[in-house]
Amino acid sequence: MEMFQFTKAADVAAAVQAASRAGTAQQGAQVRFIAGGTTLLDLMKLNVERPTQVVDINRLGLDKVERLPDGRLKIGALVRNSDLAHDAMVTADYAVLSQALLSGASAQLRNMATTGGNLLQRTRCLYFRNDAMACNKREPGSGCSAIAGDNRSLAILGTSKDCIATNPSDMNVALTALEAVIQIQGVKGERMVPIGSFFLVPGSTPQKENVLEPGDLITAVILPAPRKGSKQVYLKLRDRASYEFALASAAIVAEVTGGKISFVRVAMGGVGTKPWRSLEAEKALHGAPLDAKSFRHAAEVALHGAQPQSQNGFKVELAKRCVVHALTMATKTA
Ligand SMILES: Cc1cc2nc3c(=O)[nH]c(=O)nc-3n(C[C@H](O)[C@H](O)[C@H](O)COP(=O)(O)OP(=O)(O)OC[C@H]3O[C@@H](n4cnc5c(N)ncnc54)[C@H](O)[C@@H]3O)c2cc1C
Ligand code: SF4
Repeated sequence: MEMFQFTKAADVAAAVQAASRAGTAQQGAQVRFIAGGTTLLDLMKLNVERPTQVVDINRLGLDKVERLPDGRLKIGALVRNSDLAHDAMVTADYAVLSQALLSGASAQLRNMATTGGNLLQRTRCLYFRNDAMACNKREPGSGCSAIAGDNRSLAILGTSKDCIATNPSDMNVALTALEAVIQIQGVKGERMVPIGSFFLVPGSTPQKENVLEPGDLITAVILPAPRKGSKQVYLKLRDRASYEFALASAAIVAEVTGGKISFVRVAMGGVGTKPWRSLEAEKALHGAPLDAKSFRHAAEVALHGAQPQSQNGFKVELAKRCVVHALTMATKTA
């Protein structure tokens, strides 16, 4: 780990100002915000992140979960994962989010990890975390060690010839199914970005993972007003039952009317270079009966175009079964 200057921001404006002087993560700049620190400190110890200045944002007061007058839910960027998972409004109306959070990491990590930090956690690709290996995401233009290397856990959707890294977050998959909106404070003011437009596929610039610009601070995540009566499931498949990232996961939000699906959102984790929503599967499911054939068809459609590497071909079938099983679970009591 290299020497760095540590400052504590007193308010949002001060945090943005400090970061905008040199830029935030993925811009090749040297200032990083620190929230729970459970991603950033690991990467600093590995010399993957080498900020010259770290700005502590823990005192910004962004730690509340609030119902807005129009029914939407506003989650402060510094709300801890454990607090969010157990919040009464979340467990009642956004169960898929609670389930996804509780499937991630460990209790100790969830007590530290924040909403903003979880959104921006970096890939677990082995080569990204090893500064002796070529990695286009860590060092643009250096090559991708994973394509001809250990790629068992990596992505099959949204990949490019320059990067096949998976977005590792469980929370992001649930937020995608819930159609969350990210609230960002930047040097030019506040803006709102739907989660579907927030993350970027790697293309030829895998170092650019999202639409954040230098100085941008995530201040909140906004969820739409709850769909009362909707059935929600987060299903995570992994090598061991806890403390492990997803090989494949599925987040489902569904409503059933007259024995048919009248509303559905399908998002997948562990398989995409970003949290992966399948509009095609949703279209296939709309008006479909609650049977295995419809669910399998939706899963086939969701994985259409998957491009496995040498070691992760098993993910194609695993992800399909994950989607089918999650749909079955979500609709069985509907
Ligand atoms: C052993 C281990 C197991 C794990 N298992 C899982 C798992 O199974 N599933 C899962 O989903 N996750 C897992 N995680 C990841 C964990 O969820 C993240 O480390 C955590 O959510 C990051 O939150 P944080 O607040 O600690 O982020 P930090 O480390 O503080 O920050 C992460 C990044 O986000 C930036 N940042 C933070 N907040 C903001 C903000 N408000 N605005 C702009 N930038 C910001 C920081 O600059 C940094 O670049 C695991 C982590 C570990 C160490
Ligand atoms: S998959 Fe992406 S993160 Fe992993 S080595 Fe290749 S470029 Fe780096």
